[in-house]
Amino acid sequence: MITRRDFYINGRWTAPAAPRDCAVIDPSTEEPCAVISLGDQADTDAAVAAAKAAFPAWAATPPATRRAAVVRILEQYEARKEDLARAISIEMGSPIDHARGSQAPCLPWHLTNFLTAFDAFEWIKPLGPHAPDTMIAQEPIGVVGLITPWNWPMNQIALKVIPALLAGCTCVLKPSEESPLNAMIFAEFCHDAGIPPGVFNLVNGDGAGVGAQLTTHPDVAMISFTGSTRAGKAISKAAAETLKRVMLELGGKGANVVFADADDKAVERGVRHMMDNSGQSCNAPSRMLVQRPAYDRAVAIAAQVAQSIQVGSAHDEGDHIGPVVNKRQWDQIQGYIQKGIDEGARLVAGGPGLPEGFNRGFYVKPTVFADVTPGMTIEKEEIFGPVLAMIPFDTEEEAVAIANDSPYGLTHYVQTQDGARANRMALALKAGMIQMNGRSRGAGAFFGGVKMSGRAREGGVWGIEEFLESKAIGGWA
Ligand code: NAD
Repeated sequence: MITRRDFYINGRWTAPAAPRDCAVIDPSTEEPCAVISLGDQADTDAAVAAAKAAFPAWAATPPATRRAAVVRILEQYEARKEDLARAISIEMGSPIDHARGSQAPCLPWHLTNFLTAFDAFEWIKPLGPHAPDTMIAQEPIGVVGLITPWNWPMNQIALKVIPALLAGCTCVLKPSEESPLNAMIFAEFCHDAGIPPGVFNLVNGDGAGVGAQLTTHPDVAMISFTGSTRAGKAISKAAAETLKRVMLELGGKGANVVFADADDKAVERGVRHMMDNSGQSCNAPSRMLVQRPAYDRAVAIAAQVAQSIQVGSAHDEGDHIGPVVNKRQWDQIQGYIQKGIDEGARLVAGGPGLPEGFNRGFYVKPTVFADVTPGMTIEKEEIFGPVLAMIPFDTEEEAVAIANDSPYGLTHYVQTQDGARANRMALALKAGMIQMNGRSRGAGAFFGGVKMSGRAREGGVWGIEEFLESKAIGGWA
């Protein structure tokens, strides 16, 4: 059992002002794996004050020096990546091989992509030939509050902290109270990398405490938040009083449109993507729309693939999915599975209750519903568990209408061998990201949504610009 009540403030591990214990539960066993403390206003104030004091010097630090500091974080990762993977695995239930192969490596992936964008970045440039004495300068916005979720914890920390540091901002990170351990290891990386005191700070806490305190703090210039749409709305309202910039990465309900001419592997790929991380990904392709001639065959393939996916402890090596993060999430997913049955969808794989052979741990059966119709609860709402809804359609127009009739717009997917149709679909679908035929976005492209999925653009050059203010200067000599 790990006990880590301290916070990383002003370059030092610091005892909480008033310790308030919070158990971190290992979802594989339902046993506590750690005790941390939740911060209060005094801790938040101390971290923000440290970041505020450190800002002028860090903002004035030459970009090459900031870059070198970030490269040293990468060196720390290389030396300690196993510790990071193990922390992620026990606290949020990602099986150890998944934590090693997918979760922890998000840090080097994003970090190196940000360095590429950073190296090409122009901090000051002329407006254009029509206004030769006008320059546009980019400057760090100030102290930023970074609030992250538990589902891909290092992914979101890397997507926020690395560009903030490169941009010249100082920051206070509040990771999810469900997954604080990997964030504390990341703070050790920053310390050992020689990030100057006050530039990076970490305070553990919950949304109502440290989260809300950062959001309303007058000395915090910006909140970058990833999490639920519910919390995103609360943060937007709370931040209005200080008019700080708010960047939101929120929920999703991805449509994966499979045309009858799609390649044979498209359905299998879609099911595996849906079940990855036990369905706890904001960009999960949770609605599979299949064109009618291919529908029955697709349902049979999806059921067979879901039944073949093994469920197991996050502590065990191997290619299986782990538990979901906590009891609340497990109960919520069970409620959705029951709703699917009650509203008349056809259960073809998985279903309610623990998988066979389990009597503890927050495990969910990989579940597939066929004959889902637009408007059913499992078609509309984000489930955040390994539950796939399959919906038949006839025409391209109908597929676009079903896909777009969602409050969310994060990632949609298209499977077809007809290139012209794929391109038409990509332009017609309302989402921040489109992925076609199993191809991912190129390195350095942003991650971000529209509608209730938020408005941030994280990654690459966009991810750095989020932390900058633009300044227009006339009369440049
Ligand atoms: P959550 O909203 O409950 O919590 C996220 C973080 O916000 C946590 O650190 C939490 O303590 C904090 N928080 C909660 N309420 C707050 C408030 N009122 N003020 C300030 N901070 C607050 O979300 P979660 O359960 O941790 O994560 C799951 C959700 O995150 C899903 O909806 C998922 O789709 C979304 N998500 C989105 C993306 C994306 O990039 N679009 C990525 C991952 C997860």
